[in-house]
Amino acid sequence: MSAGERLIVAVQKKGRLAEGGFDLIKRAGVKLAYGKDELLRKAENVALDLMLIRDDDIPSFVASGACDYGIVGENVLYEAQSRTERLQSLEIVLKLGFARCSLKLAAPKDGPIKTVEDLQGRSIATSYPGLTAKFLAERGVEAEMVEMGGSVEVAPRMGVADAICDLVSTGATLEANGLGAFETVLDSEAVLVRRSDVAPAKAVIADLLTERFKGVIASRQTKYILLNAPRDRLEEVRAILPGNDAPTVAPVVGREDVVAVHAVCTEEVFWSTLEKLKSVGARSILVMPIEKMMA
Ligand code: ATP
Ligand code: ZN
Repeated sequence: MSAGERLIVAVQKKGRLAEGGFDLIKRAGVKLAYGKDELLRKAENVALDLMLIRDDDIPSFVASGACDYGIVGENVLYEAQSRTERLQSLEIVLKLGFARCSLKLAAPKDGPIKTVEDLQGRSIATSYPGLTAKFLAERGVEAEMVEMGGSVEVAPRMGVADAICDLVSTGATLEANGLGAFETVLDSEAVLVRRSDVAPAKAVIADLLTERFKGVIASRQTKYILLNAPRDRLEEVRAILPGNDAPTVAPVVGREDVVAVHAVCTEEVFWSTLEKLKSVGARSILVMPIEKMMA
């Protein structure tokens, strides 16, 4: 097979996206060969290579044809697209369900800025000037963007800017810096992105990878539930099972009044779900992960 037929997927070399990205690729059955190359990791069982780069470089590497697909945060993708016209043609194939975070506007808690309108004429420190400016423009607010590469949360305290627009997951960093978030600019997660004109010779491997990713994502959310239920409360049990309308019901040896229920649940199973099941008489409730799924 010629080198041109191998699908090249860009993944962050190191960091929050790398962790989830490598996990997804591994669960999709891709075995990476050992190699000394810092930039390119070859798969040994599929015609696919991973290109390990900084996440900020992924949109332009995919658009330029250096890679075919990429795993990147929506925040990085949309910011890059807001700056560079050429990147508009990138297509999101799948949302991947990890690296969730939000881009938020925040200001000193004890200061005068409490709403988006309060930002009129103020300065905002951010690594996302494109997204922030676009958001403010849509709200009719004009503010000055102060672009920073990192440690944005210290900007108000240092007198560099009046407010910030930064990625938040738990809010602990904002809290530690005396900042309060008052508006969400973007909710972001990792996505699989591609160029619109990937060579047809690579379509088979690209489709295979996409379908396997879908299976991994679906099986992450899906659980297998086993329980025993009183025969006369079966309808109540069925109504509680999340995302399942046709469970398997089997007899329990020596118990005419009890049935065993097996169900694949496509929605999250919370502790409260188990408590509800118990309250209608279900017993011996087991929730198990599903390793692989194919529709
Ligand atoms: P590099 O540019 O060297 O690849 P980085 O410093 O940009 O690394 P990370 O901090 O690993 O990389 O963040 C990568 C991505 O992970 C972010 O762009 C975002 O999509 C996502 N992410 C998830 N949670 C958070 C968070 N709490 N803070 C920052 N980013 C987060
Ligand atoms: Zn980065």
